[in-house]
Amino acid sequence: MHETDMTKALILTVKDWWESQPDRPTISHVYLTVGQFTCVEPASLQFSFEVQTRQTFLDGAKLVIQETPLIAFCHHCQQEYHPEIGIHYACPTCQSPMDDIRSGRELKIDRLEYTSQPPIPLP
Ligand SMILES: [Zn+2]
Repeated sequence: MHETDMTKALILTVKDWWESQPDRPTISHVYLTVGQFTCVEPASLQFSFEVQTRQTFLDGAKLVIQETPLIAFCHHCQQEYHPEIGIHYACPTCQSPMDDIRSGRELKIDRLEYTSQPPIPLP
């Protein structure tokens, strides 16, 4: 996966929101949920984010990545299981191929933490 492109998309999404805010708050944290099955390297994502937000409205904001595990469901066994990434994408009980992913493909902004600018007092 291309972390650089992903970061661009992420920043655009945050920017859309930010520009729609009347007081243009200062964003301190961006909380992101990244599924293990998206093949996104959290470290690369952190790095891209840091580089791409420099000198922008997100300068200084921290990217907080929450990883969700890969969970699949076997219809044959009627049970959930945790496939081993990259090694074994099949049900450990009956060896059916993984066809129903319940978790692990997420890639979304969970929430933003920000502080609104205090209003400028009139003299
Ligand atoms: Zn099974």
